[in-house]
Amino acid sequence: MPKRLQVYETPEITVTFDPNVCRHSGICVRGLPAVFDVRRRDWVRPYAASAEEVAAQVRRCPSGALQYRMPGDPEPASEG
Ligand code: SF4
Repeated sequence: MPKRLQVYETPEITVTFDPNVCRHSGICVRGLPAVFDVRRRDWVRPYAASAEEVAAQVRRCPSGALQYRMPGDPEPASEG
């Protein structure tokens, strides 16, 4: 059964994590350990760094398991 998408929000950034896609490369944990720590139940703490730092680290996720949105970002383009 697919695991549920996890959502972690601050007023500045929303981070989503899809456990079905994660390759467990550990890049996020090594890159920004204050935010990403798999030993915690709430393993993503986007408020533990600036939104820019969190976004930069999310972009390094090789699998696309981590995604982010910031307020004011355009909504994902719809079909057509
Ligand atoms: S960087 Fe992405 S693929 Fe690697 S452990 Fe983190 S979430 Fe999973």
